[in-house]
Amino acid sequence: MKNTVLTLMLLVLLIGCKSDKKDTLAIDIAEITSEEITVTETENQKEFVVHPISHATMVLVWDGFTIYVDPVGGTEAFEGYPSPDLILITDIHGDHLNIETLLAVSTDKVKIIVPQAVADKLPSNFDAQVDVLYNGNFKERFGFSIRAIAMYNLREEALQYHTIGRGNGYVIEKDGKRVYISGDTEDIPEMRSLRDIDIAFVCMNLPYTMTELQAAHAVVDFKPAIVYPYHYRGKEGFSDINIFKDYIKKSYIGNEIQVIELDWYPDKK
Ligand code: ZN
Repeated sequence: MKNTVLTLMLLVLLIGCKSDKKDTLAIDIAEITSEEITVTETENQKEFVVHPISHATMVLVWDGFTIYVDPVGGTEAFEGYPSPDLILITDIHGDHLNIETLLAVSTDKVKIIVPQAVADKLPSNFDAQVDVLYNGNFKERFGFSIRAIAMYNLREEALQYHTIGRGNGYVIEKDGKRVYISGDTEDIPEMRSLRDIDIAFVCMNLPYTMTELQAAHAVVDFKPAIVYPYHYRGKEGFSDINIFKDYIKKSYIGNEIQVIELDWYPDKK
C-alpha cells in the first residue's frame, strides 16, 4: 500500500512536471494497479491505458482508440477488450506475429502497420488494410503519428536473431504525448538518441535481445518519463528487472525516470 501511494505520488509529480513544460494541463491519476495504469488528463480527457497481455503483446487504449501491439495468443488472449482500431506488428517471430490470431481479432475497419518482412507473410485478404513502414518512415492513422524505429542486434553472437532493417520498433505520437515500443533490439543508437518520450516499453531477454544493464544504459540516455520493462522472458528464464531498476535509480537521472512493472507473464506462477 505504501509503495502504491509512493508510486502514485511519483507518477503525478513526473507527469505533472513534464506536462507543465508543454502546457498547463491538470493531470489526474484515475487508477493504478499492478496490471494496468490509467492516466487521465482532466482538461481534455485524453486517456492512456496499458493492458499487458503477455511478453510482447499489449492492448493500449488511448483517447478512445484501441491499439493492439503484436497480437498473439488467440482470441482468448483478447477476450473482454475492444476490437482494435490499429494493429502494430514489430517482427516475424512467433511471439510477435501469429496469423490465426491476427485473422481472429481483425475487423474490416482495422488498420495494420507492419515492416515489409511481416507484410510478406500476411494473407492477401489484409492487403487493403496494411501499411508497410520501413525504419524511419511514418504514417498518420486516426490522428496518431506512427514512426518506425530500427530494431536489431549488436552482439556478434546475436546478430542472427534480428537483422537490421527487418523489424520495426515504433514511436506513436498524439497530442504531444510520445510512446516508444522497442520491439526486439539491443541498445542501438536509434534508441539512445530518442528524445521527449513520455512512455517507453523496453525489451530485455537473452540471448535474443539485450541484458538488463544494456537496457538500463539506453534508458538513461533517452530519458523517458516512464518506462515499462517488457519482453523479458529468455531462453534460460526471466531477466532480473531489479538489475534494470537499480541501475536507473542510481544514475544521475534516477529520480526523473519512473520504472513501472506490470504483469506480463500471467502464466508464471
Ligand atoms: Zn520477441
